[in-house]
Amino acid sequence: MRRTRLIAGNWKMHGSRASNQALLDAVLQGIVGIDGAECAVCVPFPYLHDVSEQLRGTPVAWGAQTMSEHRRGAYTGEVSGEMLVEFGCRYVIVGHSERRQIYGETDAQVAAKFAAALDAKLTPILCVGETLEEREAGRTEKVVARQLDEVLTTTGVEAFSGAVVAYEPVWAIGTGRTATPEQAQEVHAFIRRRIFKGTRILYGGSVKPANAAQLFAQPDVDGGLIGGASLVAAEFLAIVKSAAAAAARPATKG
Ligand code: PEP
Repeated sequence: MRRTRLIAGNWKMHGSRASNQALLDAVLQGIVGIDGAECAVCVPFPYLHDVSEQLRGTPVAWGAQTMSEHRRGAYTGEVSGEMLVEFGCRYVIVGHSERRQIYGETDAQVAAKFAAALDAKLTPILCVGETLEEREAGRTEKVVARQLDEVLTTTGVEAFSGAVVAYEPVWAIGTGRTATPEQAQEVHAFIRRRIFKGTRILYGGSVKPANAAQLFAQPDVDGGLIGGASLVAAEFLAIVKSAAAAAARPATKG
């Protein structure tokens, strides 16, 4: 049985209360009648209240872009999973490469965040992926395996039944350079072999309306984590449509 497709937007540190409202109005209008793909937006913390008010009762779910590995306590500036649940979040991104690279999040910390998200009854979207240097050195699988194994050791493989994985080659994020559908499929199949078979594996890294259909046609690509294009309603909707169209075609395998 084919896994339900998911398109999740990662707004990063973009938006304003007014522009978010306009963006989501346009997404909600355009999404009517698109069946076959689930849709979510991961937004900056301060907008969670507005977004939850606007999206409650609609087909678009919402979530955050990171969270604390701790439940509560003296962690100035941090936000817990329970707090996100209070704002109706279903998803939380953990281990995005920008968190790993800019804020120094380690594999162990990402694994702890993944476990804390599940404890809070959130669905973690676990990001993994290699840098250009690592790909060119032929180390893609080694790096992805290391990132996954830390989580597998912490939570066990069954925990992945309540999670989403996003393969995001670092060299493709925000660069306009996308993995080819074959490159994406190769790594997705590798990830699939290590984790729970029904887990959705999203591709992320410069997904645009022009390349989405080919990526989503791959048997182990179950949707996308979308950065830049999620900020433009027409682009985001075109990507959701591509995922729905891919879901309507018979799966070749998977
Ligand atoms: C991301 O930040 O997760 C991402 C995939 O960004 P972009 O689509 O802009 O490459």
